[in-house]
Amino acid sequence: MGLGTNALIVIGVFVFVFVLTILASVGSHYFFRNTYDKFTKYTTIFAKSGQKVAEEILSLKGVFDIQVEKVDRHLSDNFNPKSKIISLSPEVFENNTISSQAVASHEAFHAIQYKTQSKLLRFRTWLVPFAGVANFLLVGIIVISILFTPFSLFQNTPLISAFIVVDCVLILFQGVSAITEIDASARAIRYFKETRSLTKIERATFKKVLIAAGSTYVSGFFSALLTLIPFIIIISLNN
Ligand SMILES: [Zn+2]
Repeated sequence: MGLGTNALIVIGVFVFVFVLTILASVGSHYFFRNTYDKFTKYTTIFAKSGQKVAEEILSLKGVFDIQVEKVDRHLSDNFNPKSKIISLSPEVFENNTISSQAVASHEAFHAIQYKTQSKLLRFRTWLVPFAGVANFLLVGIIVISILFTPFSLFQNTPLISAFIVVDCVLILFQGVSAITEIDASARAIRYFKETRSLTKIERATFKKVLIAAGSTYVSGFFSALLTLIPFIIIISLNN
């Protein structure tokens, strides 16, 4: 059985989507690293370390049961709701640069999202196990298809429908994640505007770092969305 025109179209779209998602992922991570590194050279007028910034935000918002700690991994900054710890990498924790303040305040606002029971963060947390299962199933479906029914990849089979349903779960998770990230950054930007703790020029730079950080999540969302395209094409070619 040779490959027909439809199969060639599907293979072409698969390759196109694969290349595009790799480019989006590498591009957005490079954009973030580049922006982050660029602004690690600029100290701010109020010269506060990332640790001080995060602690000030927490205390100003009346949150006293969350710790800010230093971890020894570069760019591993995160907030863990289970341990109630904001972990900051050494350069973010210690330095008073625009990049460190941007990352530290972003993480502090994840903690505020958690304390204020933000619906977004709760929904994202609720989705985590489903996204884990979906990731596992997606790989499983692809492996089963390639091993047992390679030609079914070009036909409208139940596996294709299963793939689409599972991918929709991932799209939802990536979308909610991106919105949660943008919300934390938007809160940080608003905070610095209201407290006037940065000059106008510093605030513009601060915004650039957070936009670059958010772009990695937005690209994750679009990549999940792009992955649907070949499967939708398979269904429409077979109808
Ligand atoms: Zn975040």
